[in-house]
Amino acid sequence: MPELNRRLEQITDSVIGHMTALCDALPGSINLAQGCPEHDPPKAILDALVKEAAGGPQHQYAVLCGSPNLRRCIADKYSPLIGKALDPEEEVVVTCGGTEAMMAIMMAICNEGDKVIIFSPFYECYGTDAFLNGAEPIYVPLVPPAYEFDPAVLEDAFKQGGKAIVVCNPNNPSGKVFTREELLLIEELAAKYDAFVITDEPYEHIVYAPYEHVRAASLPGAYERTITCNSLSKTFSITGWRIGFVIAPPKIAEAIKLAHVFLTVGTASPLQEAACAGFSLGQEYYDELVADYAANREIICGGLDEIGLTYTLPKGGFFVMVDITPFLEKPMFKGWSDLQFCEWLVDEIGVGATPGSCFFAEPVNNLIRLQFASNAATLHEAIERFKRLKAYL
Ligand code: GLN
Repeated sequence: MPELNRRLEQITDSVIGHMTALCDALPGSINLAQGCPEHDPPKAILDALVKEAAGGPQHQYAVLCGSPNLRRCIADKYSPLIGKALDPEEEVVVTCGGTEAMMAIMMAICNEGDKVIIFSPFYECYGTDAFLNGAEPIYVPLVPPAYEFDPAVLEDAFKQGGKAIVVCNPNNPSGKVFTREELLLIEELAAKYDAFVITDEPYEHIVYAPYEHVRAASLPGAYERTITCNSLSKTFSITGWRIGFVIAPPKIAEAIKLAHVFLTVGTASPLQEAACAGFSLGQEYYDELVADYAANREIICGGLDEIGLTYTLPKGGFFVMVDITPFLEKPMFKGWSDLQFCEWLVDEIGVGATPGSCFFAEPVNNLIRLQFASNAATLHEAIERFKRLKAYL
């Protein structure tokens, strides 16, 4: 057989996917590895989908860079939030989820030998996307448990030639919400070293008071170098619809469109039309969304407190990083990797978690990530199962 793509040999499969497969194979297990809402999307969106399904031109290809209706909805929503009148034709591209958006962005900006700065811990695909496009990641640690970065280390990464930086805000997996000051510094360094800022913001509406979501693209002078990667998955609880989007200045958006068109031709047309209904939902919808996730955070973190495990309280998103050091110090778990521990968790208590090491460039082995997007009853049951772990402490 002829040789396959050599770059793929250096890429490891999705660890979130591996943990999910283990949960799927064990009936009755609870998957806290893959962040995925258990509740239905808003009724307005489901009703719109029924209408779209009834027949019509939307069952054929959509406009390749996104349905004009959806791009208009996106431009109308984000123009005031970013503080700039966005042109839906020139500055918005609809993609197959945020994951394709990120790949299309990397395809649009990377050349062989380029360097892309990525905060570690990071969401699984960033380094892979950069690498598959010939670029080399430079990792800058967000140091647990506070997940702060050292500005000097960040500047050093730009000095090494970072032509872009990826910021996931709110951060998956750490729950960090970048402050205005941190984002201003990132934008300032990007301007100084003439780099792009890629900001990945699918959890933008899940930020817990008193913290606030600051859009990097809205900062003074930032828009021209900032590429916003986003998705409707978490905002409207439609992770399976795979609707993502990019907002970027016209020249950059043009290159992303080109990459997107050759990757996918376009995103599912009826789903794009139906998703437009979500954009008419008022502030109450967003207030309820974050209140629901705040209640879930309380269930999970309250449960962890009861068990006596330490974690970093997430400021945003629906993931929490839990420290498993107390287990790893016991003779039974001596020398175990976090992956082994997570695999054991599925078998022993029927709960899936993601080993933290898959998110870190540094050799971190003492953290696991739990998602709390499931329903309250599921989370309560997961905590009940976790209580059995006290016997091992
Ligand atoms: N974004 C979700 C998570 O981080 C799902 C990702 C996936 O299934 N690979 O868990």
